[in-house]
Amino acid sequence: LSVSELVQASYDRISHVEEKVKAFVTLNEEGAKETARKLDEKLGTDAARGLLFGLPVGVKDNIVTKGLRTTCSSKILENYDPVHNATVVERLRNAETVTIGKLNMDEFAMGSSNENSGFFKTRNPWNTEHVPGGSSGGSAASVAAGEVFFSLGSDTGGSVRQPAAFCGVVGLKPTYGLVSRYGLVAFASSLDQIGPISKTVEDNAFLLQSIAGHDNLDSTSANVDIPDYLSQLTGDVKGLKIAVPKEYIGEGVEEGVREKVMEALKQLEKLGATWEEVSLPHSKYAVATYYLLASSEASANLARFDGVRYGYRADDAENLIEMYKKSRSEGFGDEVKRRIMLGTFALSSGYYDAYYKKAQQVRTLIKQDFDKVFEDYDVVIGPTAPTTAFKIGEKIDDPLTMYVNDILTIPINLAGVPAISVPCGLSNGLPVGLQIIGKHFDEGKVFRVAHAFE
Ligand code: GLN
Repeated sequence: LSVSELVQASYDRISHVEEKVKAFVTLNEEGAKETARKLDEKLGTDAARGLLFGLPVGVKDNIVTKGLRTTCSSKILENYDPVHNATVVERLRNAETVTIGKLNMDEFAMGSSNENSGFFKTRNPWNTEHVPGGSSGGSAASVAAGEVFFSLGSDTGGSVRQPAAFCGVVGLKPTYGLVSRYGLVAFASSLDQIGPISKTVEDNAFLLQSIAGHDNLDSTSANVDIPDYLSQLTGDVKGLKIAVPKEYIGEGVEEGVREKVMEALKQLEKLGATWEEVSLPHSKYAVATYYLLASSEASANLARFDGVRYGYRADDAENLIEMYKKSRSEGFGDEVKRRIMLGTFALSSGYYDAYYKKAQQVRTLIKQDFDKVFEDYDVVIGPTAPTTAFKIGEKIDDPLTMYVNDILTIPINLAGVPAISVPCGLSNGLPVGLQIIGKHFDEGKVFRVAHAFE
């Protein structure tokens, strides 16, 4: 099979299913075919080939791609063509993958269902009346629908793991700092991480291997040695100690989801691991803490979209201030505006101590909950989300209900630790995700457990 044929198969699949799934904002057909032709020249020669040679990949539309429109699914960036590639995109290029297109998302990664996209809603390939999850809904749906081999998403509070769970695929949020954020349009800089989405744990490890590692262009990038993740996929979990937080399997978690997670734990027990119930007592504050911190950071990060430097500019403004106001009012959607207002309020003088500072302190307590459990256990396991994919329209009018759906993924970002979502069965015909959480930079073990279970 040539790379050109593989890439053609990807576009054929897209033309077959995309009308229903709607995962892509922009296709890179010409560019991809050109890349494929170049890679094909290497086939049949002795030239060294990358780990992921010729494989079709999709990229979330908040990761910049040189000359390929990058919108963050926002009207304000509708016509934005970046002048450079994100570090992860460069690394995928070095690994000789082929970028098939840019994937739909909740505007600026704010949302849990893809319904906040400024353009259209992506649908869940398992049942198109249901959401694919979010914000990396296009990234998860495109892999689940077989349009690409794998994709990149970003995860600030669950945006890789929750859509992976909803679409029955594998999604990893790496340790904060493991993967460069250079070229990821910032939402909440202290929480954002880029993560791989794939059909199998093995593919996921391959993908992480090629994108992880220190980058001078990101000051929060960690300078750590990158282990060989594939060598961790031994299938051996004997003697491994698993913690199951009671807060993750209690009230609010759907019965069908709990059942599947319990079955998964039994399976891991059969493989020789043991598990015990523990407590992460500050979990109940995680959603409030996250929405204060993430919105505060977002309000600062999104100040750059002013109608001057990037994208959309409103017509007919009488002066500069009015031009800013009009451009931002017309360019941003409702959810983005809600977050900017919330964040600006939380950071304003007189309120800073009561909200932002308090939230930072609670963040430390949440992190310490994990540190304590990890003194005695190898991994923490629970569901990825309290429910399976909900129906389109079901939660969109009530932001708080939507926010609470992130309750099991948010604490992980606040603590900065890695976590993967792997499919662990179906409930009412829709996929359930098992979340495996590890110590900082212990992706190897997270992969090992996920792989043994898979
Ligand atoms: N759903 C969460 C939010 O709306 C998380 C989003 C994300 O991880 N980007 O903020």
